[in-house]
Amino acid sequence: MQKKTKIIATLGPSSDSVSKMASLALAGVNVFRINLSHSSQQTIKDYIEKIKIVRQKIKKPIAIIIDTRGPEIRVKKFKDSKISLKRGSLFSFYDGDMIGDDKGVAITQPICIKNAKVGGLILANDGRMKFKILNKKDNCLVCKVLSSGELRDNKSLSFKAQHFNFEYLNEPDKNDLKLALSMGVEYIAASFVNTSDDLIALKKFVYGIDQNVKIIAKIENLTGLKNLDEIAKNCDGLMVARGDLGVEASFEKLPVYQRKIIATAHKHNIISIVATEMLESMITSIRPTRAEISDVAKAVFDGAGAVMLSGESAMGRDPVACVRAMSKILKEAENEFDYHQKFLAMPKTPHTLSELVIQSAVSASFFLNVKAIVTYTSKGKSALRLSTRFAKVPIIAITDSEKTYNALALYCGCLPCLKQNEDTLFENVQKICFKYKIAKKGDNVIITTGSTDKISNMMKLQTI
Ligand code: PEP
Repeated sequence: MQKKTKIIATLGPSSDSVSKMASLALAGVNVFRINLSHSSQQTIKDYIEKIKIVRQKIKKPIAIIIDTRGPEIRVKKFKDSKISLKRGSLFSFYDGDMIGDDKGVAITQPICIKNAKVGGLILANDGRMKFKILNKKDNCLVCKVLSSGELRDNKSLSFKAQHFNFEYLNEPDKNDLKLALSMGVEYIAASFVNTSDDLIALKKFVYGIDQNVKIIAKIENLTGLKNLDEIAKNCDGLMVARGDLGVEASFEKLPVYQRKIIATAHKHNIISIVATEMLESMITSIRPTRAEISDVAKAVFDGAGAVMLSGESAMGRDPVACVRAMSKILKEAENEFDYHQKFLAMPKTPHTLSELVIQSAVSASFFLNVKAIVTYTSKGKSALRLSTRFAKVPIIAITDSEKTYNALALYCGCLPCLKQNEDTLFENVQKICFKYKIAKKGDNVIITTGSTDKISNMMKLQTI
C-alpha cells in the first residue's frame, strides 16, 4: 500500500538535477517547492523545466509549489556586514538608507518605525535575538538589547504580535510569480499571510494570469493565527510554517498551534501541511533523531495531509535517504491511525448534495469491503473533499485535465489518474487498480461521480 500523507521537498543545491529530482520522486516525493527567497529567475525557470522532464521520465504526477517571499521586514546593510550586540546595550532601527553599525541600522519597511508600539518586542535570528522598544522618535525606534548576539546584513525581523498594513505583494514576488505562472505551476504558497485581505490581493494578481492555480496560506505569525478561520475560507490549504511561527510564538505553544491549524483546515475541507525541521538532523546525519521520528508521526496523528522538507532536501547530505526515512515513518504511523474514529469525530453538516454524497461514500467505505473510492474530478474539488474526510482506502481521482492531475499529487490519500480519451470511466478504474495493486478482479470499489465536477450526485458499488 502506498503512503497516504504527501511529501513536499524544497529544491536547492542538493536536489537540483533531473536525476536527483527523479530519485526523490521515486522515493516518495509528491511535490517540489521552489522558495522565491532563495531563487533567481534563472533558477526558477531551470527547476520548473527539470520537474517537467521528471514527470515525463518517471510517469508520475508531481505538483509544483512556488513559495513567495511575502511582506518581509529586513535590516539593511552594516559597515562591516555584521555587528555583535551585548545584552543591556541600546540599539536603534531607522527609517532611511544609513549604513548600520553597533548603534543602529536602517530597515526595509519604514511604516514599522511609525506604527510600532513602545514596549513591544522585535525578534531577529530565528527569535534568538530580542529587542524591547523603549522609545519612538521621528525616524527611529530606540531599543534595549535583551539577548546578546550577532546581526548580519539583510536579516529578517519580526515585530511580535504587531500587524502593519504593508502592501501584500512586493515587486520581486510579482515578477517571479509572473514567470512561474507563465510556465505552469499548480500551487502558490503565500508567506506571512496576516488577513484574508492579503489573500484577496494575491488572488487578484495570480488569477489574472492563471485561474486554476491553488493557494496555500502559510501561517507563520500570531496575527495569521488570530485570523485563521477567515484565512481558511479564502484559500485551498494551510501550512503550519513552524520556522517563522516558532520565532513569534512561545515554543511550548507550537504543538498546540499545529493541531489548531490542521483542525481548521479539516473544518474547511482544505489541504493541511506541516513544515520545517521535520528531519533537520538529517541535513548532516544518516538517520533521524528519536524526537524527529515522533514529530513526523505526530503530524499524521494530528491529521496532516502533507509534510514538508526544507533544508533537508535543499542542502542536506542525502535528500533521498531523508525521503525514504520520512516515507517509512509516515506509513508506520498511518497503519496505527484510527481513520474511522477520526471520520466519526468530524463535524457532519453537509451544506450541499455533493458534500452529502462524499460523506456517505467515506462512511460506506468503512462498512463495506471495498478497496478504493473512485471519483471523477475536473478541477479537483470532489477529490479534495474526499481527501480531507479520512477515508482509510485509497482515493482514485480520475481527471482529464493535466493541471488537475499534477495538483492532485498533494491531496492526502489520493492516487491521481489521467483519463485516456478512448477509455471509459470503468476501464480507467480497472487500469489504475491493477497498476497500483489496489484491487484485483472480483474486488469492490465505491465510485462517486456526477454530471459536472461541482455536483457529485451519484454513488455506486462497482465490482472490478
Ligand atoms: C517556515 O517558516 O516554517 C516556512 C516554511 O517558511 P520559509 O521556509 O519560507 O521560511
